[in-house]
Amino acid sequence: MSLFDSLKSKTSHGVSKALSNTEKALRKAEINRQIAKSRDELDALCLQFGRIVHHAGVAAEAEVRSFLESTHAIEVAIAENLDKVKDLEETNDREGDETFTKTLCAHCGAEILPTQKFCGGCGVTLHSN
Ligand SMILES: [Zn+2]
Repeated sequence: MSLFDSLKSKTSHGVSKALSNTEKALRKAEINRQIAKSRDELDALCLQFGRIVHHAGVAAEAEVRSFLESTHAIEVAIAENLDKVKDLEETNDREGDETFTKTLCAHCGAEILPTQKFCGGCGVTLHSN
């Protein structure tokens, strides 16, 4: 064991006994200063962190609003197109689209569409007009 290690060992073992009350008070004051300094550093970092979070929140708010505006515009466009499809379907139902107008099979009376080549009821060959 080196002299330094020996001294360090003795010092750490007998540190309380070896120090006078004055020395203890001075060390305690120094340690308390270090603690206060560390707390100040911590406070400064927390303040900095708070500012970062605040700015991120402000930035995110604008970004979120922008996204909401975009998605809302798309949703409105979809709703408008769905209305258009509904209108077209209702128009079909009211006026009757020729391609979907049902007629009856002359042979068996089953409902047939103009697009059918054979009757679904009796299987007779249908002639397109
Ligand atoms: Zn038929």
